[in-house]
Formats: sequence, C-alpha cells, structure tokens
Amino acid sequence: MILKKRDKSLYLLKLESVMDRLSEKNPKYRLASSEFLKHQAGYRGEMAVDYYLSFLSMSEYHIFNGIRLKDSLGRFFQIDTLLVTPWYYLILEIKNIIGDLEFCYKQNQLIRTYEDKVDRMECPITQAKRQRAQLHDWLSKHNFPIMTIEYQVIIANNHARLINADKYVYEKVSRHSNIHNLTGSFEKKYSGKVFTDKDLKRLSKLILKQDTPLATSPLTQLKIEPFEIEKGVQCPSCKKIPMERARKFWFCRQCQFSSATAHIHVIRDYALLMGDTISNKELRSFLQLNSRSVAAKILTSQNLPILGTTRNRKYLLIKNNKLLIQASSNA
Ligand SMILES: [Zn+2]
Repeated sequence: MILKKRDKSLYLLKLESVMDRLSEKNPKYRLASSEFLKHQAGYRGEMAVDYYLSFLSMSEYHIFNGIRLKDSLGRFFQIDTLLVTPWYYLILEIKNIIGDLEFCYKQNQLIRTYEDKVDRMECPITQAKRQRAQLHDWLSKHNFPIMTIEYQVIIANNHARLINADKYVYEKVSRHSNIHNLTGSFEKKYSGKVFTDKDLKRLSKLILKQDTPLATSPLTQLKIEPFEIEKGVQCPSCKKIPMERARKFWFCRQCQFSSATAHIHVIRDYALLMGDTISNKELRSFLQLNSRSVAAKILTSQNLPILGTTRNRKYLLIKNNKLLIQASSNA
C-alpha cells in the first residue's frame, strides 16, 4: 500500500517557477537550467522506480515516498523511498544517471563517465548507509520494533553501466527492473514477522506528521535576486509573460489565448519564489494589475488562511513547507 505517494519536491516546483520567470538572457539562466534538468531527471527516475514497486504485494509492502525526517541530533535525513514490511525495512536511494558508473565507496565517490566527460559525486551507497543509521536512530527514539534495515541504491536509467564493480557494489546496487528479485531475496532472509498492523498504523501516522520538506530556495542556491524574477501573468498556452487583464479574463497578445484562471499559477509562483504570505499590494505588483478590488476578489476566491487585520491583511500561501495553493488547471 502506498502510504505516501510521490509528488514533485517543493525544490523542483520552485525550480520550475524559476525556469518560467527567469529571462534566457540572464547570465544565471544556464546554471538554473542545468540545476532544473538534474532535479527533473531525479524525479523522472523515481517515477520509473514506482512502476516496478507497483508489482510488490500491496498488502505486505507499505511505501513511503520522498520523506524527510529529523534524527535525535536534529539532523535531517531524506529517503527517496522507504518500504516497510512485517519482516524488514528497505531504504531505496534512487539515481537516474546515464553513462559508465564506478562506485568507489572506499573513497566515498561515484565517478560517472559520459561522452568523455568525467563527473564525481558523493557515493550513493554511503548516502544510503547514512540514511540507515539515521532511520535506526529515529525508529529507536520512537520505540518501534527493531527489524533489520536494508538499503539499496537503485539505478533508474537503462543507459547506465556499472564498471569496475566488486562484489560489495553488486550487492548494494540494483537496476530498477530488478526490485522484485531483490525483495524476494530479502523475504527469504527475514521470515519472522516483527511488525504488527498496530505498529504500522503508528509508524505511518508519525512519518506523515514529522515529514518536513526541504524549504531551501533555488534563488538562494543560484544567487538569483528577487528583482531578476519576471512579474506578470504567464500565458498557459505560449508561456509568454505578461498577459493583459481584459474584463474578467487574461488575454495574451502573442497567441490570442484568453484565460479566466491564469492568475492562480502566478500566485503559486509567488508562493514558491517570493514568500509564504501575500498582501493585496504584493499580489497587484506581481500580477502587474492596477485594480485593488480585482486583486481582493482573486485572493478571497482562493480560500487561503488570513493573517492580520483588514488594514494589513495577508494571505497564507505556504504552511509547514507545504503549498496551500494547488496547481491550476492552466485553463
Ligand atoms: Zn500566449
């Protein structure tokens, strides 16, 4: 059973907004674009893994995707996928990387060679092993039954090839299409049932309650200043900014498209890039809209929590690092 479904991370959503609102002429555009493509590939790799996870017995495998918890020393740890079974836990560290991959775990390095270019990154085996230690700490702190925590690096790219791998690497790294064999071998290894339905219910509740998505902004990471972010309503059809307000619609001069709801996406971009709250004035500035009453109507129609009194009223857009405004229909 999927107890936490996979969503795009808040960071990836923010990067999408950056890509929509950063001019291609901006010198930081290339860096932003490569950061976006990296995170998008990661998400696509995770979704490719979800397909293979769907073949597991849903009554015995409980799946939590993209969780971020805090250990007893206050350090966060993030797990791409956590599988909880009655017999063991399994952490999956998912990598969607193309090319020849050499896992130098003793030096804590993954060396990737692709088209004559060499990249070095932290060894995902070491990453997963660290997640195991932190998960163990978290589970003991909350008095959950002690079961073995297995960990595995999952390669979600068919164009990746392991090179110079030893027995340990083959043991700790699998292809996504091999997940079923992997869990089968663990089931043989761990046959005694430790986890009860009651444990599972408590675990599920606690994970979902304590899950804290990363709040970091790509603007900080990429050193992009707020003034570099383009304001205005983006055309859902041709992506041009800004659309113009005409009666009750937004109109695009570029492609003649009109939309009654294109502003919802803008409020979402504001939440992702500018701040957790928005005032009428801030909305007007970001929408490039003159009318205070239209802005008020737009804000009240979103049913957002309100902070402050009438004069300095603000609308809450993000709470506990989660977006309160949902994706628009783009219509
Ligand atoms: Zn357009």
